[in-house]
Order: sequence, then structure tokens, then C-alpha cells
Amino acid sequence: MSRLKKYLLHFRGVPEGRYDYKYIVKDSFFENFPESVIKKCEVNVGVTMAIRSRFIELKFNLIGIINLDCDVCLDDFDLPIEYNTNLKVSFSKEGSDITNVYDHIILADTENDIQLAQHIYEYIHLCIPSKVVHGLDKDGIRECNPNMLAKLEELRPTIDEEEIDHRWDKLKNLKF
Ligand SMILES: [Zn+2]
Repeated sequence: MSRLKKYLLHFRGVPEGRYDYKYIVKDSFFENFPESVIKKCEVNVGVTMAIRSRFIELKFNLIGIINLDCDVCLDDFDLPIEYNTNLKVSFSKEGSDITNVYDHIILADTENDIQLAQHIYEYIHLCIPSKVVHGLDKDGIRECNPNMLAKLEELRPTIDEEEIDHRWDKLKNLKF
């Protein structure tokens, strides 16, 4: 995890105020997360850390491209993304609770730093649409690989009349 060291924000002893950080997340970032469905990307991440007397507010702005495999033609393509979110960090004597990575984490009073990598990882993955498919070109035609589409069309099963089970036809005539 040493490669993620630059995502460690130090706050202990830092005076109240706003501090800005910039990161460029590239392919190597995901080597730390082998379960990631994203392997390639270039995302600019701006982070503003506002240190208040009792808590810390983090603002994230992500903008860039992620490379995904199309669900339809399986070719990869670059998807532009933009994501903005806030994260509140408060402190507790009871210990850390960083299970809610999306809007509020609690750090133990003894912590000195916040590791942002897991948060950035989750935010980038939130940008993946439920259906990953090529976009449309200026003529409204989907930019899928035409060779693959032709192959899929060939392989589409055709229903053979012989294979239809006629025993179910009787059910259609039943009146309830
Ligand atoms: Zn496609």
C-alpha cells in the first residue's frame, strides 16, 4: 500500500483553514485494488480539506475518463466522468469507524491522517453506469464494433417450431 502514501492527508497540528490538493489517478492506482473492474483511467481529483475546530470537511471533485468494456460488443472505450461529493470527518474517543466511506467517517482521537485512496476508488466506481455500452455518434448510430454486432446477430438463436412444447397449449384454453 506504500504507493498510496500520497493519498494520506495529514491533519494533526495543522491550523484551521482550507487546504487544496490535486491528484491524477492513473492505471497504476488500480494495482492496489485487484477487484476493480476499471483497469485504465485518467481522472483528475481535486480535494479541499477544511479543518474546523471539531471536525474536518472534505470536498472532492473528480473529472476525467475511465476505460470500460462494452456490455454489448465487448470492445473497450473511454467514458467521460464527473463527480462531486463531500465527506465529513469527525472524531471519537471510541475509535474509528470508516465503514461509511460515502458521506461521514469517524476517526479515533489518536489518528493523525486520513487515507483518501479507498474513497477515491469508491467515487470513481460510482460513476460506472448500470449498463455499460458505447455511446452514439453524431448520426445517432451506436459506436459498437460492427464486426462483433454482425457476429452476435448470426449467433442469435432462432426458435424452431419443432422445439416448442405443445403440451402447454391446453393451458391457454383453461378458464378460471
Ligand atoms: Zn459496444
